[in-house]
Amino acid sequence: MAVAEGVPLLMRLVSASVSVSYRAAKIARDVLISGDLGIVEKSGKNDLQTQADRSVQRCIVASLHKQFPNIPIFGEEELAPTTKIPDEFIELKLDEEVLRHKCPDNLKDIKNEEIVIWVDPLDGTKEFTEGFLDHVTVLIGIAVRGVATAGIINQPFCNYEAKPKYGESRCIWGVLGLGSFGFERNTHLEGNIITTTRSHSDYTITKTVQACEPTEVLRVGGAGHKVLLLIEKKAHAYVFASIGCKKWDTCAPEAILHSLGGNLTDIHGKPIPYHANVVHKNTGGVLATVENHDWYVNQIRDKVDAETLSKFETVKLAPPTLESQLSQKTLNIGSNASNATPAGDSTNGKASGSASSEELRMSRKRPFEDSDSKL
Ligand code: AMP
Ligand code: MG
Ligand code: MG
Repeated sequence: MAVAEGVPLLMRLVSASVSVSYRAAKIARDVLISGDLGIVEKSGKNDLQTQADRSVQRCIVASLHKQFPNIPIFGEEELAPTTKIPDEFIELKLDEEVLRHKCPDNLKDIKNEEIVIWVDPLDGTKEFTEGFLDHVTVLIGIAVRGVATAGIINQPFCNYEAKPKYGESRCIWGVLGLGSFGFERNTHLEGNIITTTRSHSDYTITKTVQACEPTEVLRVGGAGHKVLLLIEKKAHAYVFASIGCKKWDTCAPEAILHSLGGNLTDIHGKPIPYHANVVHKNTGGVLATVENHDWYVNQIRDKVDAETLSKFETVKLAPPTLESQLSQKTLNIGSNASNATPAGDSTNGKASGSASSEELRMSRKRPFEDSDSKL
């Protein structure tokens, strides 16, 4: 632990999250190898939970809560809080590679009460059950004052078709103002390749994708996986005109994409807030791009009919009070935050401390090409 002395809270949290993501990936791999996925239908046959979703969430939430007890954590799965968590699910190590990076100045003094963690223990569960293993990711998103600020995407079965024993785990992480690490990207990509859902499609989604004039459509699973395609320059845009994605699906991918100068918003081009009291569904849909974000926003606005567009509501910012964050924390550790209140009208109070939400948003405007990331 001495290695982390003097390291700002945010970087310690990112470091702990990278470490726990590898433990989580190992748990997901072990569930697959056991041959018993323990599949449960949640709202229907396209909304599944497996033993990997349950165990990974327990691992991540318990490990992070032990180290950062005053930070609220929202996990996707509704789990019984009384279940005993095995010792081997607890990972308390810090990732030393992360600690070698300097925290951006505007994030050095961020405090517990300014942070919310959004956990999708397994993104792409449907694909996990069908054997599309590289669509599966573990997502840990870190929001500061409601802005997706740092993200961890662990891909437990990377390259599973080429490598024996279901491939291997890799971790991509990033922080706004610092960059993102752990991946390689193509130098050039022709055409206008759009990625969208594989298992939750409908007429509106297809119509909106077509409005963006794709030269090719990649229908693949997982929000994390689709954003990986963007940062690796295998696709230009992720278009999802649906309210199916939740905050835990987009927080980590958004932070990583933004740290590279890309963008992730709702389909109207408006930012997605991640405060503790925000509504969980991304009611405005999702639009993510490597570059030329406004072009896609304009195509959708001009080519999709107004009645369809009116179904997608931009979520208003509603910064929580410290009291509401702390009460959310006690209610939601280890379980789904089903009692979180939807965002109401904006009460966008004056932020105190080192970085306002607006400054955080501005710090993601660096062009993709200027990233100082290790590529
Ligand atoms: P997809 O692109 O379909 O893999 O979806 C990305 C993420 O959003 C996954 O975690 C899905 O479970 C979730 N999601 C998207 N649409 C729906 C839906 N209609 N019902 C439940 N979850 C959804
Ligand atoms: Mg998900
Ligand atoms: Mg999930």
